[in-house]
Amino acid sequence: MRVGVLALQGAFREHVMLLEALEVAAVSVRLPQQLEDLDGLIIPGGESTAIGKLMESYSFYDPIKLRQGQGMAVWGTCAGAILVANSVLDGVEGQRSLGLMDITVRRNAFGRQVDSFEVDLAVAHLHGGDFRGVFIRAPWIEAVGEDVTVLARHEGVVVAARQGRMLATVFHPELTGDPRIHRYFIEDVIGA
Ligand code: GLN
Repeated sequence: MRVGVLALQGAFREHVMLLEALEVAAVSVRLPQQLEDLDGLIIPGGESTAIGKLMESYSFYDPIKLRQGQGMAVWGTCAGAILVANSVLDGVEGQRSLGLMDITVRRNAFGRQVDSFEVDLAVAHLHGGDFRGVFIRAPWIEAVGEDVTVLARHEGVVVAARQGRMLATVFHPELTGDPRIHRYFIEDVIGA
């Protein structure tokens, strides 16, 4: 199994390290050709407008959509969740997303006072207790389509969701050292 991490901007190294700790072949993806033999792709947190512009410059949009249509699993974390969404609220003028997942995401939704915070989350399908959610200028998932399963909420707001071979988390599971969501992506989402 080969899992790529889009390595254009943001917290991609931490994802690579966690995948390697799980003994998965991890690929830092810098060019669209590297998508060809991947079973899954992680789009990391960072700045969605910056990642989006770099995706445009390196012509990533169509190849990611094509490979996803062929069965490559995709997981977006934080800025990555914005990039996989069908619809983005409070984006910058003309902000583009891949539109892979039937979710509506609101950028920077948790507001300035709580720009960044940590909280324990009950995440569906994870064993061994709550998962520490690290939120950094996080978006939230404001609406989900019929085919989307909610995996976690914080104060009623959806913060993790799955649709088939697509996963979105608005917090940063790569920053806690807890590999359970990475394992879930590998075993349940890619493995499905
Ligand atoms: N606020 C960022 C954005 O809109 C996301 C922050 C993050 O990925 N930690 O892209």
